[in-house]
Amino acid sequence: CGIVGYVGAQSALDVVIAGLKRLEYRGYDSAGVAVLCDGELTAAKKAGKLVNLEKELVGNPLPSGSTGLGHTRWATHGGPTDANAHPHLDNSGRVAVVHNGIIENFALLRTELAERGHRLESETDTEVVAHLLAEEYAAGGDLAAAMRRVCRRLEGAFTLVAVHADAPDVVVGARRNSPLVVGVGEGENFLASDVAAFIAHTRSAIELGQDQVVELRRDGVTVTNFDGSAATVRAYHVDWDASA
Ligand code: GLU
Repeated sequence: CGIVGYVGAQSALDVVIAGLKRLEYRGYDSAGVAVLCDGELTAAKKAGKLVNLEKELVGNPLPSGSTGLGHTRWATHGGPTDANAHPHLDNSGRVAVVHNGIIENFALLRTELAERGHRLESETDTEVVAHLLAEEYAAGGDLAAAMRRVCRRLEGAFTLVAVHADAPDVVVGARRNSPLVVGVGEGENFLASDVAAFIAHTRSAIELGQDQVVELRRDGVTVTNFDGSAATVRAYHVDWDASA
């Protein structure tokens, strides 16, 4: 339901949790985060309100990396449990994906992945994306290109944000029939399903168009269409009141 991604110099966990709080008004049933630090990916997720996740993080703190993502879930496929909460990881534990929307052809993709030896551990439509992205990244070594190849195989409506432990300081996002906005900062960049998540940090935004993938680094934002061609983007200034 709510998505936040971050790459920069601040604590990704702090930025992501604060961003998710700004999206709480939309309603959700579970929450989760993942952080990249020193080539390792660590994730935490909990059914219930963000405060449950925050309590979990007090008991089991994540390393303080500066690349990360977070999600508040409104369950459509699979009940609101810890296991079904996002992020979803592949079997190597090196890819983390969060998703808003519905992957319509997930059942077919699950069967194909299971036949190739993948172990799927949740009941969600989302988890297939983590496994497919791991495969595609292993084949090509470019996370944005891997995301484009995965998206071309997906049907339905989705906003996706992902990180890979082998691609430090990179966050990728994708959108089809579901919103995704880039917040452009100085030495840091943000991704969110709604500008409310990052207006405390920047008012400079880029709205992703239909069937586009974005690659976020500390000092750059690259937007391409699902076919790999360069995308035309619409940059704008967010001028509504941050306290609203
Ligand atoms: N369909 C996904 C799920 O049920 C994402 C739901 C959402 O948009 O939060 O896990």
